[in-house]
Amino acid sequence: MGARARLAFDEVLLAGLAGDGGLYVPEHVPKLPEDTRLGAGELSYAELAARIMAPYVGGAVDDDDLAELVADAYAAFDHPDVCPLVALDDDHWLLELFHGPTFAFKDVALQVVARLFDHELERRDDRATIVAATSGDTGSAAMEAVAGRDRLDIVVLHPAGRTSEIQRRQMTTLDASNVHAVAVDGTFDDCQDLVKAMFGDEPFRTESRLAAVNSINWARVAAQIVYYVWAARLLSDERPVTFCVPTGNFGNVLAGHYARRMGLPIGRLLIASNTNDILSRLVETGELAAHGVTPTLSPSMDIQISSNLERLLFELFDGDGAATAALLGRFRAEGRAGLSAEQHRRIRAEFAGDRLDDPETLDVMGRVHAGSQMLIDPHTAVGVGVAQRCRRPQELVVSLATAHPAKFPEAVARATGRTPEPPPALAAVADRPERCTSLPNRVDAVKDFVRSVRRD
Ligand SMILES: *Cc1c(COP(=O)(O)O)cnc(C)c1O
Repeated sequence: MGARARLAFDEVLLAGLAGDGGLYVPEHVPKLPEDTRLGAGELSYAELAARIMAPYVGGAVDDDDLAELVADAYAAFDHPDVCPLVALDDDHWLLELFHGPTFAFKDVALQVVARLFDHELERRDDRATIVAATSGDTGSAAMEAVAGRDRLDIVVLHPAGRTSEIQRRQMTTLDASNVHAVAVDGTFDDCQDLVKAMFGDEPFRTESRLAAVNSINWARVAAQIVYYVWAARLLSDERPVTFCVPTGNFGNVLAGHYARRMGLPIGRLLIASNTNDILSRLVETGELAAHGVTPTLSPSMDIQISSNLERLLFELFDGDGAATAALLGRFRAEGRAGLSAEQHRRIRAEFAGDRLDDPETLDVMGRVHAGSQMLIDPHTAVGVGVAQRCRRPQELVVSLATAHPAKFPEAVARATGRTPEPPPALAAVADRPERCTSLPNRVDAVKDFVRSVRRD
């Protein structure tokens, strides 16, 4: 960003994945293709995705290959609409993003990104080893997306004993020889430090062809733009749509911002936070202020500073990379940094937000169940609760449902007295044998493991 070079999509795909720093933004945001506009005729989800992603992929993958790759990615989703829209109450809809293989919204992008990656490596006759740390959902979604891909291996580190049973089993029961779950004797931060240390070791990184699939990868954002357009097309209402997004790393809501820049008529983007509310506070106050991370019922949103926010700040500084870096440097050093009044005004023109704590989240889950018999997961509930609070009269609102309720059965049961029925593929992880390697919290041990599983 800023001083960094201009790159073609294939280079961004690999560069964004090659270090853990590269934060690229498209130089030019394309307008929505004519045939994807509202009312321009029916398209399947996969057809829409191929058309919307094509201008970003820009020649790195030809249109037919892209269409095929995207169709293949979404064929495994357990709903024909891929991301179905369900009525919640008057003018308030839920967009279900959890019909992929791991039942959380990360699948929507990662299923495509792993295939793009494999395709590009095929073209280059090369291979890569993805290394990642996870506290929950991203690890299993990345492993599931990479399972069986010819040119990729993946090693995912999780803190031993600190993920939920379901999350661990989703990682350890995959039946594919190129995916590897590692339980590290340490915390999530230790796992992240190990990954950083591996990326920081240039000879090891080159020798092992290390790659990352973290949420700052631009291809993930591009794939997530699609469902905003999809929902608006399904509604085909005259009113612009306001989206409410349960937010952690800002990747999901950033995709909404790009959908708007591509010309989608979006009303407001509502940033829904749990107790870790640095982003909704930013919108409210114009200041980034660190408060530390508190564990909540919606763990995938327990994030302090979201890396994707840098992309929005870069726009607010009108593309001045040095000024963006200075603000973030100040924030890291002092725990707070403020926007100018003009920048704050620009954020507020587009975004609003609020937060729900755990009791409020449980209350929303209970009320939704009482009103409509629907079970929703705690992340989704944070979004629904914020949407209900922020809604204006006559506003058309879509809340993004980011995880299947059966991924968080304890919270759902606490809120509603009912245990959600797991989809068959999720129920199956309870019976399959686990495969997991336990390693000490030492970088040499993890490096040896990566060397031992890599296929050359
Ligand atoms: C990752 C995740 C989020 C947060 O999404 P961001 O793109 O990080 O803002 C919300 N809900 C669930 C279930 C997730 O897995």
